[in-house]
Amino acid sequence: MAEARHATKAKKTCDIKGCGSEAERSISGKAANNADLKVDEGLKRVHLCKEHYRDYKKASRKTREIENLGR
Ligand SMILES: [Zn+2]
Repeated sequence: MAEARHATKAKKTCDIKGCGSEAERSISGKAANNADLKVDEGLKRVHLCKEHYRDYKKASRKTREIENLGR
């Protein structure tokens, strides 16, 4: 029985600082910055767990609303 070592290619972890959950989605680094997510700067792709993806969606929706109000 071969046990998998820690280098499992398929699974990524969430890129939010302090979060080690399994990533379910990935967004662009730019989108993450726009949504004010706590990720390292300069990332091309940001991986998010289910929870933080929900936060991201919430944040981006709020941003859009504010932009619309500004018109
Ligand atoms: Zn997370």
